[in-house]
Amino acid sequence: MLYCLIVGAGISGSSIANIISSGSTDCKIKVIDEKNAIGGNCFDYLDENNIMIHRYGSHIFHTSDKKVWDFLSQFTSFNTYMHRVYAVIEGNEVPIPFNFDSIRRCFPENLADRIERKLLDRFEYGSKIPIRDFMEQDDEDLRFLAQYVYDNVFVHYTEKQWGKDPSQIDGAVTARVPVYLSRDCRYFQDTYQGIPSEGYTRMIEKMLDRPNIEVKLDTDFKDIENPEEYDHIFYTGPIDELMDYCFGPLPYRSVHFKLETYDREHYQDNAVVNYPNNYDFTRIHEYKYYLNDRSDRTVIAKEYSEDFVIGKNERYYPVPTEESAELYSRYLEAAKRKYPNMHFLGRLGDNKYYDMDKAVARAMEVYKEVFE
Ligand code: UDP
Repeated sequence: MLYCLIVGAGISGSSIANIISSGSTDCKIKVIDEKNAIGGNCFDYLDENNIMIHRYGSHIFHTSDKKVWDFLSQFTSFNTYMHRVYAVIEGNEVPIPFNFDSIRRCFPENLADRIERKLLDRFEYGSKIPIRDFMEQDDEDLRFLAQYVYDNVFVHYTEKQWGKDPSQIDGAVTARVPVYLSRDCRYFQDTYQGIPSEGYTRMIEKMLDRPNIEVKLDTDFKDIENPEEYDHIFYTGPIDELMDYCFGPLPYRSVHFKLETYDREHYQDNAVVNYPNNYDFTRIHEYKYYLNDRSDRTVIAKEYSEDFVIGKNERYYPVPTEESAELYSRYLEAAKRKYPNMHFLGRLGDNKYYDMDKAVARAMEVYKEVFE
């Protein structure tokens, strides 16, 4: 009999728990979570208005990885929701990523025509260009465009979101939202997209609903008396906390959400509207769009970014800098020495800015590394 302990019942921990339990009937899996709910930051719930609220901000599933899509489709169906984001720039709502439609909304027609022509002369239709690369233009109109997008879409949003100037943040972060030379106004172009029809919590509940999986909530790793007795431990929590912060805390960004309920059908025209400039919040989520919830009321969440402080708020985003990568490596080495039977995964365990599909793919990869 194989005994496995999974620390964390979010999407990473629940995926690996399910994969192990399906791989062998001859194993016992215990999944613990320090919270009193499963789902981690994917947690959602139906509120009194019958609106599905994403407690930790909008989660939109998207992937081009068929394996991941097929795996999750065992536990839920997905609706056909396609995410779109608009940003308020000088009073206009413009599609994000900034694309040809955004150009038309921001500039007079003759300038928009000229810019579009020049872009299509130099780049292929459909190219996605990270803003940092896009800034390097020799043409005056295109330099103007790049500076406009940098000033109006990226710089203030990134300062609010990360509490840092964009130059201090790993380029991979702003590259997540490139300049997109296209008329496709969707936020993601992945093959598979949608929201789990009964929510993420229900999907994860089904992943954990196996005879050889036991789930224990309100349970911290420190509550486990003899961790060395497990054959394998899969740890999806913060590695610095595991090691009692012996090298100092890893930096995280947190966010908080101010929920507001309105007695009308909709508050805004779209699920997410970004406010790169002018306001303290970064974006407003209107949750009823995701599952097309029927209600006379609507619930919105204004999202405010802040530093993560131990004991005060939740970890959301690992801050991707060179120093934090080095600090993480030191922790990983020390943790593996202290717990030879432990494997790390997830946004916190790996200290990586994974989207949900990448978290699931990582669980599949760890399973292979350990068992195959
Ligand atoms: N970003 C920005 N302006 C926007 C949207 C995104 O500057 O209107 C930058 C910002 O630095 C942000 C990053 O792109 O942290 C990634 O945004 P994404 O929407 O992927 O963030 P998530 O939804 O994961 O919070």
